[in-house]
Amino acid sequence: MRRVRAHLLVLGGTTEARALATALADAPPRVTSSLAGRVAEPRLPVGDVRIGGFGGPDGLAAWLRAERVDAVVDATHPFAAVMSRNAALAAAATGVPLLALRRPGWTRVDGDRWHPVESLEAAAAVLPGLGRRVFLTTGRQGIGAFAHLDGLHFLARSVDPPEPPMPAALDVLLDRGPFTLDGERALLREHRIDVVVTKDSGGAATAPKLTAARELGLPVVVVERPAVPKGVPVAESVPAALDWLAARGLTLR
Ligand code: NAP
Repeated sequence: MRRVRAHLLVLGGTTEARALATALADAPPRVTSSLAGRVAEPRLPVGDVRIGGFGGPDGLAAWLRAERVDAVVDATHPFAAVMSRNAALAAAATGVPLLALRRPGWTRVDGDRWHPVESLEAAAAVLPGLGRRVFLTTGRQGIGAFAHLDGLHFLARSVDPPEPPMPAALDVLLDRGPFTLDGERALLREHRIDVVVTKDSGGAATAPKLTAARELGLPVVVVERPAVPKGVPVAESVPAALDWLAARGLTLR
């Protein structure tokens, strides 16, 4: 039987993944967006959505074959390193072309007091020397890395409530971006924050905390990104990803 439309799998969970699904809503290829299922009420992309893990690289490879996928765009969060590695392995095993869609990381500007670290554990190690009241914005899954820091007070912001292990002195703020500069300024002042911890997620939605911290002269511990798996091409924007698809004859542009 003749195939009328190519099939694209978008590994999602990000603003860019939703934007890509929207951009392709009315034209080839057919898009299936995949979510891990971590968030209780996720913002769903337009079009077909599947939710839950594939069962490692072999499970993903089997899914790509069964669903006759023509290309994969890994638009997961820059810190979703396991999924990105699995995608690279499954693409290599099946020969399905893979693109990583990664928004650029943030850039330090004059006045920033950034402390770059390689991991959440390294962030926890430097914190006691930087402040006592910590604004933790690394997501609920990372909170355990700070659980042993008894002398510090944490305000953690996450979409869903964190689970143990957690620091003893912890206030949780359930919220999801985009955030505003006015809001971030008020939050840092109201909670008398003296140090901020963030992943280098990049993007506009959560950047205002960096500006607010700069204005208030606060140190920011910035967890650096894991590398994109070797050999996987990277697009830094949705238009660049559309160009990659067009170059493979998968879109009409
Ligand atoms: P991860 O550690 O890289 O992946 C762990 C496992 O979760 C994977 O092996 C895979 O299970 C499953 N998985 C992850 N992303 C998936 C997707 N898009 N579709 C289907 N299964 C997926 O992932 P994570 O850091 O926990 O992130 C989970 C999701 O949250 C991702 O979609 C990511 O884009 C989003 N997110 C993550 C962060 C962050 O800071 N890490 C922030 C915002 C949003 P199987 O091996 O069974 O396939």
